[in-house]
Amino acid sequence: MNQYAATQDAPATQIICDLRSDTVTAPDAKMRAAMADAEVGDDVYGEDATVNRLEASLAERLGKEAGLFLASGTQSNLVGLLSHCARGEEIITGKDYHIWKYEAAGASVLGGIALDPLQVATDGGLEPDAIRAAVKEDDSHHAMSRLLTLENTHNGLAVPLERCMAAADAGRDAGLSVHLDGARFFNAVEALGCSETDLAGIFDTISICLSKGLGAPVGSVLVGPRDVIDRARRWRKMLGGGTRQAGLLAAAGQLALEYNVDRLAEDRMRAERLGQTLSAYGDVQQATNMIFFTPKGGVTTAMQQHMAGHGVRLSEATGTTRFVLHKDVTDEGLQAAITGFDSYFA
Ligand SMILES: *Cc1c(COP(=O)(O)O)cnc(C)c1O
Repeated sequence: MNQYAATQDAPATQIICDLRSDTVTAPDAKMRAAMADAEVGDDVYGEDATVNRLEASLAERLGKEAGLFLASGTQSNLVGLLSHCARGEEIITGKDYHIWKYEAAGASVLGGIALDPLQVATDGGLEPDAIRAAVKEDDSHHAMSRLLTLENTHNGLAVPLERCMAAADAGRDAGLSVHLDGARFFNAVEALGCSETDLAGIFDTISICLSKGLGAPVGSVLVGPRDVIDRARRWRKMLGGGTRQAGLLAAAGQLALEYNVDRLAEDRMRAERLGQTLSAYGDVQQATNMIFFTPKGGVTTAMQQHMAGHGVRLSEATGTTRFVLHKDVTDEGLQAAITGFDSYFA
């Protein structure tokens, strides 16, 4: 079962606004051209110039020693966790975080790593006191606490820098390393109005998706200290993720980082506009490029079908539904959504 897959049959109207997720973004002509023109080599030999450039440039941009290109955010987090922790060691994370909920317990299955998931605060962060309480004493009864992982953005929420720092400090004081699941790292930076290195500097390692809002078709980058990234490269190979002429994909990621970071502000502003419309029709929680909408009377298939008639695709949901703005929702698409919701609730 796939929680995001479309349930409605292909509607008669062409879809011009897909609000299910920012994962639906497609590479545009410029990106496809960059992919076609990419300089490539065998990346397992370390000879793919485009991959090497992507890894080095993103690491440098974020003030880290090294980077590693991976197939997905899940693979990047997994390889990161395996590089920090050994069997019998433990990761402290959040109950609602992707690493705990949506990564098939990969770190436990493949690494023999325990996870201790804490309650996530309403701002998307973890409480320093809860982190301190979760760290296990050095006692043969316990797993060995080794790593803290945070997530930013979390459900679209840009967790403030001070909150990230307080959590990271609590972990570091107890001897833990700190990893960020920064699938939407640049959405967080944009919303916080901080510098990229302000946020990156809090963490040892960061996993960043080049797909989603940045619009690359495939790929994530893990950045961090050289020794951790060297171990990550071995894990990636072991997991079957060492690829050859990957520069075709890295070229798309490079372009995404050059051209699609600044425009993330547009997605947040469009989410605000859509949220203003929807607030007349139910409860709206808006955070960066996402909206969580609980219409009076709940989500219905009638609403999904009505919106499809306006060219707008929504996720299957009950109660509350999530809408995500991204680069393939233009002003025209946004207007179709606003017109569709206005007419549905009229
Ligand atoms: C999407 C996402 C991931 C995983 O990325 P995939 O590329 O889909 O594997 C990890 N963490 C968070 C918070 C995400 O939103």
